[in-house]
This record gives sequence, C-alpha cells and structure tokens, in this order.
Amino acid sequence: MSVRIGVIGTGAIGKEHMNRVKNRLSGAKITAVTDVDPAAAKQVLDELGIEAAIYPDDQALIDAEEVDAIFVTSIGPAHEATVRKAIEAGKYVFCEKPLSVTAKGCKAIMQDEMEYGKRIVQVGFMRQFDTGYEQLKQAIDSKLIGEPLMVKCAHRAPEVDAAYTTDMAITDTLIHEINILHWLLADNYVSVQVLYPRKNKHALPHLRDPQVILLETESGALIQAEVSVNIKYGYDIQCEIVGEEGIVSLPETESITLRHNGKQSTDVLQDWKVRFQDAYDKEIQVFINQVAKQEALQGPSSWEGYVAAVTSDACVKAQESGQREPIELEEMPSFYRAEEAEAQLM
Ligand code: NAP
Repeated sequence: MSVRIGVIGTGAIGKEHMNRVKNRLSGAKITAVTDVDPAAAKQVLDELGIEAAIYPDDQALIDAEEVDAIFVTSIGPAHEATVRKAIEAGKYVFCEKPLSVTAKGCKAIMQDEMEYGKRIVQVGFMRQFDTGYEQLKQAIDSKLIGEPLMVKCAHRAPEVDAAYTTDMAITDTLIHEINILHWLLADNYVSVQVLYPRKNKHALPHLRDPQVILLETESGALIQAEVSVNIKYGYDIQCEIVGEEGIVSLPETESITLRHNGKQSTDVLQDWKVRFQDAYDKEIQVFINQVAKQEALQGPSSWEGYVAAVTSDACVKAQESGQREPIELEEMPSFYRAEEAEAQLM
C-alpha cells in the first residue's frame, strides 16, 4: 500500500518534505495539499511535478477520502488545532515542531491521543534520526562513559533575517537542543538560566546574540548551550558529553580534507537543510513505514512536544528575568512510556 499524504502548509519545510516523499523516499505519495495561499500551493505542486488535489482548508483535507496521513507544516500557532482535528478523524499526523505554541495545547493533544488509544502523532524532532546523535545515544545508554555529568553544545548559524527576535533563539533554535538532550540523557530538566555575553557586532539592534543557556537536569547534570546566529563562518552543530569515565562528541560532518597552499582544511556546512537532510529523510520514512502497517508510532511523541514546550517557556522566562527559573513538568502518562508504546504495537 502506498500511504496517501495530505500536506497542510506548503511553505519552506512543507515543500522540502513533499520533495523528499516524491524523489527520495518510498511507500508514499502526496495526494492533497492546502495552504493559506492556494496559488502558492499550486506553484509548489507545479515546481515539484506533483499532481494532487488542493483543498480550501485543513478540515477539508483531513476529511478527504484520498488522505491516509497528514503532514502539518504550517506556521507554529496553527499546529494545535490541525493536529487535534486529525486525531479526531483518526488519521496519522506528522507535525513539525512546535506541536503547539503552549504547554496547555500540547496537553490537549495528548489527552485527545490517549482517548483515541494509539500513538498516531509524531513530532518533527529530526535530530533523533541523525546518525551522529544515534551514536551518542548508544554510547550513553551502554554506559561507555559512565553517567553523563556535563554537556557542552552549540547551535551556530551564519546569519538570520530581521524577523528573527531574541526569544526565537529559544523557540526556533535551541528547541532542537532541548529535545535532543532530553532524549540523549533521558533526564528531565529542572531549571534554566540565560546569560548574554558581549554582543556580536553583526547582530541587528533588536537581537541579543549570542546567548548562553544553562540547563540543569533532575540527576544534576549541567548543560551549557550556546546559540549564535550571526557567526558568519557556517552552520555548525556541536555537542560534547562529559561522563564519569570519558567524553563523547558529535562527529563532524563528512568532508574531504584539503591540503593546499600550505594549509590543511575541511568544509563547514552553510545550510541547516543540508546538515540534517539524512535525518529528515529517515524521520519521514519511519513515519511512512509505521503508517503503512497501521502501527502505534515510535518516533518523537506528543509527550516530547509537551516537554519541549514547557522547557522553552521557562527558557524564555529566564531570558527576560535574568534569573534561574524552574522547569516543572507534569508526570509522564504511562501511555507515552516506551513499554506501553511497544504494547500498542501488538
Ligand atoms: P513557512 O515557509 O512560513 O511555511 C508555512 C506555510 O504554511 C506558509 O505557506 C503559510 O502560508 C502556511 N500556513 C500558515 N497557516 C496555515 C494554515 N492554517 N493552514 C494552511 N497553511 C497555513 O514556514 P516554514 O519555515 O516552512 O516552517 C513551518 C513549520 O515548520 C514551523 O513550525 C517551523 O518551526 C517548522 N520547521 C521545522 C524545521 C525543523 O528543523 N524541524 C525547519 C524549518 C521549519 P502564508 O505564508 O500565506 O502564511
């Protein structure tokens, strides 16, 4: 069976995902799309050479007979309502981050999903499918370095446009570290503080950049995360985990080593789409495969969307207060525990 996918929001990432379904992945096709601007949706279909129906809104697309599963790639504030409609219709959803812009919204989605009785929502935290992070996870879980004590990581981008504001360093950028470190360490966050070093001269007047975010976990592990979004030299993701008996670091991206003119060098990537291309491919392929089998989804869950929302709210509060702010999560419903998810497979 080819999974028939409806895409809600045909902007930058929506188009990327449509392209990968058509040209790089197997077992699915795009059969329907909708966007605030139907003409823009039509243009994307034409550019990609995809024949699909254009629907006036999310509800009409969700209700369409030729749609088995939904991609939610609209803007963040629109996600919650659409995901809830999809669950109500009993259709699988892949939702780009954020699952909802509020923790309350994420809780409402979890409630709906639990009432439905099977995990049918996957959140677009693609780093969990990145080979380098998978290797870090294996090393941590197998206790190769003992218990993790400290993490030093960085999320660096060459530049951002004028619409990028100080809080987006958390909600758009750090959000990926928030998710991946929670997954890697399997440890909840308990507090956060945000510090602002000397400002980068390339940052626009309204933007605080760089930022240093200090997170503490339940076990006492300390995380120092740098966000720099005007750093010019490239798109660079770093992560080093210091354990009791060793250190593991995210591998550098593949590049030839060039010896030339008395220098030895390797390339630094410039574009996030390229850095995580394989991870995006894999997250969507896994989603397609599980939908095809009508299984409970195993990828990043609504619970992880909730954890990210609560943590990101506390980080934004810490940006504003300059204080150490608590991060208070509710207890994880058993529905989202790994064992329960496996049981839903039966
Ligand atoms: P974008 O280029 O602005 O695309 C969003 C599209 O959705 C636009 O075409 C927009 O139309 C449309 N839209 C807005 N509300 C809608 C609604 N209610 N129904 C249907 N369409 C709607 O943004 P983007 O960069 O693709 O980002 C989309 C989402 O993906 C965001 O939540 C973002 O955080 C996430 N994202 C995730 C990653 C990742 O690494 N996982 C990377 C990039 C983006 P108008 O332009 O006419 O408003």
